[in-house]
Amino acid sequence: MNSRIHLSLAHMGGQEQKFIQEAFDTNWVVPMGPNVDAFERELAEFLSGDVYVAALSAGTAALHLALIITGVEAGDEVLCQSFTFSASANPIVYQGATPVFIDSEKDTWNMSPEHLERAIKDRLSKGKKPKAIIPVHLYGMPVKMDEIREISVKYGIPVVEDAAEALGSKYKNRHCGTFGEMAVLSFNGNKIITTSGGGALVSRNEEYTVKSRFLATQARDAAPHYQHTHIGYNYRMSNVVAGIGRGQMLVLPERIEQRRANNRFYREQLKEIDGISFQTEPSIDYFSNYWLTSILIDPEKTNGKTREDLYSALNGLNIESRPLWKPMHLQPVFKDHPFYGDGTSESLFKNGLCLPSGTGLTVNDLQRVADAAKFTL
Ligand SMILES: *Cc1c(COP(=O)(O)O)cnc(C)c1O
Repeated sequence: MNSRIHLSLAHMGGQEQKFIQEAFDTNWVVPMGPNVDAFERELAEFLSGDVYVAALSAGTAALHLALIITGVEAGDEVLCQSFTFSASANPIVYQGATPVFIDSEKDTWNMSPEHLERAIKDRLSKGKKPKAIIPVHLYGMPVKMDEIREISVKYGIPVVEDAAEALGSKYKNRHCGTFGEMAVLSFNGNKIITTSGGGALVSRNEEYTVKSRFLATQARDAAPHYQHTHIGYNYRMSNVVAGIGRGQMLVLPERIEQRRANNRFYREQLKEIDGISFQTEPSIDYFSNYWLTSILIDPEKTNGKTREDLYSALNGLNIESRPLWKPMHLQPVFKDHPFYGDGTSESLFKNGLCLPSGTGLTVNDLQRVADAAKFTL
């Protein structure tokens, strides 16, 4: 039996343990310290320097704090891309607010500006002004950011950008994670770089990152006796795992290039196959880190072979793949929430598959995947 090929695994660069050792040697084994500070600085520099970063325990925690800082409260509505991982929407519900789901458009597979504006008009006509917009750069592909921001400005609704999958992606030569009033990053184990688990809140407004650190460390007021005027959270990043992050920052540019090379390899190998199309940068304005290479299968052009057939065939060959995210408006837990769309994300979900995309894959591994796809379709 061939060895298992995984979808996306953690990939250490080699320097991580040096930074962890430093944390141990100096006894900074706490959720703050020199690695946390340096990791925040290095992320801000990577994102081109005009932003502030707060390192947190998870991307989900970052999103939760971003919504709190935006002022999302019980009974409010928040506009959220439907085609995403559940962590984009869950924090809305943590706040007792209601997600209003927005469908995707066909170019980027991300939030449709048209459906977004339609939703805003409709919610306003029902007497409710949504409190925030959460677009998601899915699989690393930048959202149509100009259009979304224009709507955000027109209606005065702030954008909280979910850039969890898009570290290193750019739109019009500007980093994803620097467009919204706030943005979130994730360093979960399967992301382009990892701290085993972790996340960050990013903003051009330093006040927001300061506030997020305050809320993330139990909201302690400046008093020796632990006084509290806010409800706090335990969401700060540990100085030990921040050491992993610092090691990973050293290889981030290489990791982006490797993910993009995986994507080029699959495109080249599969270009002759009728019925396969790729999630693709719509123009030179878009630069995706291609975190996961994602394809659509059109059964009308593959003699009836479906996404399910390819998924099963790969699985039988010990190759892990994954259907595209099931849209939130189709999830049982969110089924009663409003949705504005036209079936685009539902159709992506029905026909789409993520191929193994880790940066630890060898050319041999990639060839095995491509050969299996060619054989099956
Ligand atoms: C991974 C991910 C998150 C959550 O990040 P965690 O660090 O796992 O909490 C949020 N949104 C999207 C789109 C993600 O892929």
